[in-house]
Amino acid sequence: MPRPELSLVIPIYNEEEVLPRLDARLRALLDVLKVSTEVVFVDDGSKDRSLELLRRMATREGRYRVLSFSRNFGHQRAITCGMDATRGKAVVVMDADLQDPPEVILEMMAKWRLGFDVVYGRRRSRDGETWFKLITAKLFYKVFAALIPIEVPLDTGDFRLMSRRVVLTMRELRETHRFVRGLVAWVGFKQTAVEYDRAARAAGETKYPLRKMIAFAIDGIASFSILPLRTATYLGLVVGFSSVVYGMVAIISHLAGITVPGWTTTVVLVSFLFSVQLVMTGVLGEYIGRIYEQLKGRPLYIVAERINFKRPRRKAKT
Ligand code: UDP
Ligand code: MG
Repeated sequence: MPRPELSLVIPIYNEEEVLPRLDARLRALLDVLKVSTEVVFVDDGSKDRSLELLRRMATREGRYRVLSFSRNFGHQRAITCGMDATRGKAVVVMDADLQDPPEVILEMMAKWRLGFDVVYGRRRSRDGETWFKLITAKLFYKVFAALIPIEVPLDTGDFRLMSRRVVLTMRELRETHRFVRGLVAWVGFKQTAVEYDRAARAAGETKYPLRKMIAFAIDGIASFSILPLRTATYLGLVVGFSSVVYGMVAIISHLAGITVPGWTTTVVLVSFLFSVQLVMTGVLGEYIGRIYEQLKGRPLYIVAERINFKRPRRKAKT
């Protein structure tokens, strides 16, 4: 099979409600695109009928290919798997829920033809998101941008086009805790944006509950910055300096004979220092945990089923 011009990567987790609509939009898009295209669906261990629907879609449409995980490995790993499997000269990652309008891909392709290696979708507006998600997302990206030394585009998600050389470079990065949008910024090359209005989810509900959002944010910061670790040093210096000053005050008041039973100060200081200690131990733990996970070198994902792939690969990449 010759190399397709374009590959789409779409992670799927319990999306049975949205799949028929996605299928219709994609087929409409494939007609307009007029370039050879493959669509790689990665079923991230869905517990509903998603895989069954995907199987059916793939028998009807030969350009659809499906990889199905043995269990839920998470959105970022699903994207990684899809990118590992694509063969296209350009690769576009998009969500299944039609929040990323497939039509924007045409604009991305145009920029790619002008010589850009990465074309990310920048959200001009976001429909149908809770104010909580909007505010926390904004805050997170502000903090993230301030913490990390590389330039990351604001207001973007994982909806982006990448040239083959970017995808090949990304395949070299096998870190366990993956923050794909950060990794793409990290690899560099010529990057640009197209703006789009992010629609509300077409059907079903979000697969990112607060718990996953927090884990995602911590992964993003911890895999790109060691600043939280360094704060321990700074904090230690500040606290150390303050206690020297306080010690001097205590000695002077002792000499002046104005000491009072220092119960309050003791309790306040001990509990303050103890909580600082605990927080910093937690931060240390975060990084040590990451080292441990990485050291085990387990594969990022396990593929249980492959549909419309010619040669079965023997094992998942680590
Ligand atoms: N997703 C996934 N694995 C997960 C969670 C989500 O593959 O564990 C997929 C999901 O099917 C969708 C995309 O990731 O295609 C984005 O998820 P969602 O739209 O629920 O996130 P939101 O837009 O609410 O942030
Ligand atoms: Mg969504």
